[in-house]
Amino acid sequence: VFDVLIVGGGPAGAAAAVYAARKGIRTGVLAERFGGQVLDTLSIENFVSVKETDGPHFAVALEQHVKSYEVDIMNLQRAESMVPGKLIEIKTASGAILKSKTVILATGARWREINVPGEQQYRNHGVAYCPHCDGPLFKGKRVAVIGGGNSGVEAAIDLAGIVGHVTLIEFGAELRADAVLQRKLRSLNNVTIHVSAQTTEIHGDGKKVNGLSYTDRVSGATKLVELEGVFVQIGLVPNTEWLKGTVALSRHGEIEIDAKGQTSIPGVFAAGDVTTVPFKQIVIAVGEGAKASLSAFDHLIRNSFD
Ligand code: FAD
Repeated sequence: VFDVLIVGGGPAGAAAAVYAARKGIRTGVLAERFGGQVLDTLSIENFVSVKETDGPHFAVALEQHVKSYEVDIMNLQRAESMVPGKLIEIKTASGAILKSKTVILATGARWREINVPGEQQYRNHGVAYCPHCDGPLFKGKRVAVIGGGNSGVEAAIDLAGIVGHVTLIEFGAELRADAVLQRKLRSLNNVTIHVSAQTTEIHGDGKKVNGLSYTDRVSGATKLVELEGVFVQIGLVPNTEWLKGTVALSRHGEIEIDAKGQTSIPGVFAAGDVTTVPFKQIVIAVGEGAKASLSAFDHLIRNSFD
């Protein structure tokens, strides 16, 4: 039986593990892929105090830090369901049942992909998903943002201040972002907006992106935009499918937490991209993981008298 069982081995889960282990309590980490989204990241330049690193190095550093403590790491294991109770049970895809007094859910999220030719080939070579992370790499260049919802329009406004030119591409007949964001976007002189536009392909020279094709859904014509970068902003999907019917989720499927990282179930905490916490970033996930872990410890000292 664990005191704290952490599900997820990204920045949030790793931080939670370090904080729990330092309290001298029995700590386990169950992770499908230790490192999480960081493994798919090329360069990281905004983890404050580390001027520049890359995803694989950052993931190794996370793992080494966790392994320097007594933590039971169960990597390449997927949690399939959670059963609340005095002891909370986590069932894995391999059939194991793990029991713990507290659980920290840190299963992260994934960017929704556009699924057109070129997206996978040029991922990290012009195709990006996070404007806060990769915007500065396109300083002075031409980029497109795919998606006219709040995140797409916010990304376009943000990028317009850094890059040379932004083309915003929206599938529907109108942008879906809040009016105030749309007004701001339309006031910028280096932004072009295309609605009723279906992205069909991201082009490149074999090494990096050099263009994007879309179909004008009104005229049926195919258009080519020359550019150096494409930001896909059609949604971030939290990894909570396995939790449906247990903890309370927001309408976007994110785990609802309070200021201490407590979920709707006593003894179950959550941290990082999988939660309702605004802004999905490594430095934020790490802080949230530490917070959830301290909350779990607080729960343990208030509730276990055996
Ligand atoms: P994740 O990193 O998503 O980790 C989730 C963990 O849970 C993983 O170990 C996963 O395998 C595991 N998991 C999921 N489901 C299950 C399950 N059912 N059972 C067991 N384990 C499970 N942020 C920055 O701050 N700077 C950047 O430069 C930056 N660049 C990025 C570039 C890319 C391409 C991407 C995709 C993201 C980038 N981000 C960046 C965002 C950052 O990676 C995330 O905010 C951060 O990783 C969130 O950490 P997390 O621990 O909450 O979740």
